Order: sequence, then structure tokens, then C-alpha cells
Amino acid sequence: MIKYVFGPVASRRLGISLGVDIIPFKTCSLDCIYCECGKTTDKTLERKRYVDPAIVLEEIKTAVEKAPYIEYITFSGSGEPTVSSDIGLLISEIKKITDIPVAVLTNGTMLHRQDVRNEIAKADLVLPSLDAATQDTFQKINRPLAGLTIDSVIDGMTQFRKIFPGQLWLEVFIAKGINDTPDELELIHKAASQIKPDRLQLNTLDRPPAYDDVYSVSSETLQHIKKMWHDLPVEIIKRIHRREEITSFSFNLESNILNTIKRRPLTIDDLEALTGKKREELFRYIDILEREKKIFPKIVDDKIFYAPTVPPKRMTGTF
Ligand code: SF4
Repeated sequence: MIKYVFGPVASRRLGISLGVDIIPFKTCSLDCIYCECGKTTDKTLERKRYVDPAIVLEEIKTAVEKAPYIEYITFSGSGEPTVSSDIGLLISEIKKITDIPVAVLTNGTMLHRQDVRNEIAKADLVLPSLDAATQDTFQKINRPLAGLTIDSVIDGMTQFRKIFPGQLWLEVFIAKGINDTPDELELIHKAASQIKPDRLQLNTLDRPPAYDDVYSVSSETLQHIKKMWHDLPVEIIKRIHRREEITSFSFNLESNILNTIKRRPLTIDDLEALTGKKREELFRYIDILEREKKIFPKIVDDKIFYAPTVPPKRMTGTF
């Protein structure tokens, strides 16, 4: 029975991704107010073995044999993967069995430790989060383990960047009224400039949060931050919820996308070729159509297709 590996899943950021979860549910150094997995039940920075790495490796091996087209093997899940003392070993062993790149989603709170930096540096892509630059905001948004400081987190990420040759994508989650003040944003910008990520991905609330009274910021606010931080490689990864959020929304384009997908499932590349529009714009329409459950992403062989939720009567093929 598969216990630690999930997917492959269709991920907007990582393509076809095989998830690896080596930490018990909600074991984390933070208790972020926006966490989609709920409140942290075991707040810790203690590194130890949580699961048998031999079983994890066996599961990964089986999964990649079945689906060699996986684009990333991704350490993620419902806790912080770097509290596992086996993550470095697992990355090294994965590299012996496959060329598939390894990604690590982390809250970055362990990167102040040299051993963790060295272990994670063996991955190909690291995606740390940074939502604050002052201790006060760090407490409010990330509710860290006592004694953990934001200065050590920023310093850890900066040190890590210096030794890490792979891709570093820094995610910044913006919560209304908490870390969206001009002063905090200026300091986050300063910290991000020091960390030097290859991408800075702006996000806001998308799903029900762990705590009440957490609110998303608007698309306009994210656009405004992107403009303010124009010297950084910023991209907005927040999903669109409403048509009004799409500048120059076109009903024609939306029906064109939906009707074409209803005739046959399409990849984002197909849609680009058919409509002549860029993928960033097309994804906004896809967000709406997915949210309204008119289409859904489906992995077929080595590609992510968008398929109609209800297949048309005359449609043939393997969908
Ligand atoms: S770091 Fe990630 S898993 Fe931990 S509480 Fe925050 S969002 Fe949840």
C-alpha cells in the first residue's frame, strides 16, 4: 500500500509532479494563519526520522517506473519536510534511481542550519516561503515556534542562495491587513533582494484558511506590489476567482476555450496555438472554468490536458 507518495498530480507551478510526504500531518515549525491543512498540531524544529526512508524510496521507484514522464519529484505535503533528518539522504538516493528533477517546498525556517542547507542544496528546485520581514508580522502571519526569529529565517535563505546552484522560487503570501502595509512590503522587498530568488511568486488566500479572519488581497493589490517590486522577477500565482478580476475580459474568448475543450481535451500549448493568446492570459480563463467545474486538468501519458467535466455524447478516445 502506498503511504508516502501521492500523485502524480497536475500542478500549475511544477507540471506533472509526484508528491512525497515524509512528515506526519501538521508537524511544522510554523502555524500559518492561512494554512490549507488546518492548525499545526506538532510545532517543532526537532530534526529526526519520522518514516522509514527505505519504504519511501521503494514507493518513489515504483511510481517513476509507472510514470517516467513525471516532471518533478516534490517534497511537500501537510508539514515541513526539512524537519525530517532523512531528506538529504532521500534526495541523494532519488538521484541514483532517476534523472527526474527534485523539488522541495519548504517554509525555510531550518535553512539557518548549515547541515540543512547542504542537504537541500542537492535538490534542483527549492521553493521557500517568506511572508514577513519584521518579528511582529512574522508572529501574526506565521505563528512560529517560540524562539524562532525572522532575521534567522532571512539570513538562512540568503546563506542558502550563496551555495545553491539550482532554481530558487520564493513564495510571498499576502494577507489583507497583516503584511500588506507599505513598511512591511518595503522590508520584504529588501529581504527578497538580498535572497536573490530566480522567481518571486506572489500569492494570496485561495482556499479556507486555518484561522478565522484571514482575508485575501485583490488582484489589483498584487499587481500594484508587482509594479513596486519591478526590479525583482515577480509573478502572480494567485488563481482568478471572478471574471471581473480579468482585465479586458472577453466572453468570446471564454466560450471559444470552453467549446474547443468540449470537442476535444487540449493542453495549454494547444490552446496557445489555437487562440494566439499567451498562457498567462489563458490560465485566468481556465481558473474560472475549473472553479465552475466546467473543465478539469487530467494527466494523460506525459501531458496535462484540460477536459470537459461532462464529456459530450459524441466524444471518442481515451478520455
Ligand atoms: S509552513 Fe506550510 S505546512 Fe507549515 S503551517 Fe505554514 S503553510 Fe502550513
